[in-house]
Amino acid sequence: MTNIDPAVGKAVLAADRKHVFHSWSAQGLINPLPVAGAEGCYFWDYEGNRYLDFTSQLVNTNLGHQHPKVVAAIKEQAERLCTIAPSFANDQRSELARMIAEVAPGDLDMVFFTNSGTEAVENAIRMARLHTGRHKVLAAYRSYHGSTHGSIALTGEPRRWGSEPAIPGVVRFHGPYPYRSAFHAADEREECARALAHLEEVITYEGPQTVAAIILETVVGTNGVLVPPDGYLSGVREICDRHGIVFIADEVMVGFGRIGEWFAVDAWGVVPDLITFAKGVNGGYVPLGGVVISRRIADTFRERPYPGGHTYSGHPLACASGVATLRVYHEEGIIERVRRLGEEVAGPLLRELAERHPSVGEVRGRGLMWAIELVRNRDTREMLVPYNASGPAAEPMNRVAAACKKRGLWPFTHFNRVHVVPPLVITAEQLKEGI
Ligand code: PLP
Repeated sequence: MTNIDPAVGKAVLAADRKHVFHSWSAQGLINPLPVAGAEGCYFWDYEGNRYLDFTSQLVNTNLGHQHPKVVAAIKEQAERLCTIAPSFANDQRSELARMIAEVAPGDLDMVFFTNSGTEAVENAIRMARLHTGRHKVLAAYRSYHGSTHGSIALTGEPRRWGSEPAIPGVVRFHGPYPYRSAFHAADEREECARALAHLEEVITYEGPQTVAAIILETVVGTNGVLVPPDGYLSGVREICDRHGIVFIADEVMVGFGRIGEWFAVDAWGVVPDLITFAKGVNGGYVPLGGVVISRRIADTFRERPYPGGHTYSGHPLACASGVATLRVYHEEGIIERVRRLGEEVAGPLLRELAERHPSVGEVRGRGLMWAIELVRNRDTREMLVPYNASGPAAEPMNRVAAACKKRGLWPFTHFNRVHVVPPLVITAEQLKEGI
């Protein structure tokens, strides 16, 4: 561990509290941990407390911290060419686009680069609206799609409330969630059939000719690690095809290996029209996101200009880190190891926890993306803390988080859930220890 010095930590925190305005927070109520350094799956503070990172930060440090090959690529690129405008061609950018196209499903083989997931979603909506000439976008209640004007409007969970009214034309639907079914379904098969019938009904009432796109997280991330039942995504694909609606798979969290597939849609063999990505594409070392675009939609903008862009779109430092990251994925067989760790370590251990611990209502997930849903009562499924709890109502979950931190584990908690989303380079031993 490097940089251990409690006095420096205190100074960092003092300056932070005075001048840094933090996201999603009441500025006077937060107490961020000053981080002195990080390596692999661990980070540490200035006091010398080290934490096993079960969050991958914001589910983005897929290769852990300070991967030497990615750090070297960023350094080398900084010495060669720090920046060039998106209107020029650049070797790192075109190589990264080629590498993404190579692993993307179906005919998705063009890439529009952004700096974040939220910008990726904004551009996907714009592409879908211009391609179809329609304006409505359907999005699920249990979803997070970003924090800028359009993507926060698509976000179904409470974080959108403070930004309303955002953009017009957003219509919400319920996706499948067998454990807390909105459709009173008895099992996954029934949940899938009813969720698809519900979606179809929403489209009928909205008027199919007004619906540009359906956006969904292939596996719902922050809002519960909701793995879709078999048949759901292919059902959505079929509905989109029948009505001429663009299918946008938001894979900002799950793209690039999180569930043991390059893109999560691969697990169900479904090809959407647009895929949004960010986070895992370069493990978060330099801000980067984008949209992978099907030929059909890309062709809409062959003669007609695409009306959108960013100064830093396809930034060489970000793209160089992306190229290095994806090379490591290939060299180290990251996709296969995630699948194996999910099937052989995380899945069995977490299922055992669900059987034995009276506060665990359900565990669910795939690869290295799992949720442990905590309840007061397993029969009634009453949540350990209510939906969107804050203040004293959230205290039981705060205690869960504090207990993990005391034992050297940094947990991802949201509402009544603990998510297990460690870096994809975690070892089986570290994973077992954390769980
Ligand atoms: N979409 C999904 C599924 C996400 O999980 C996130 C972020 O967590 C976003 C979009 C927004 O990405 P960003 O925070 O990079 O803007």
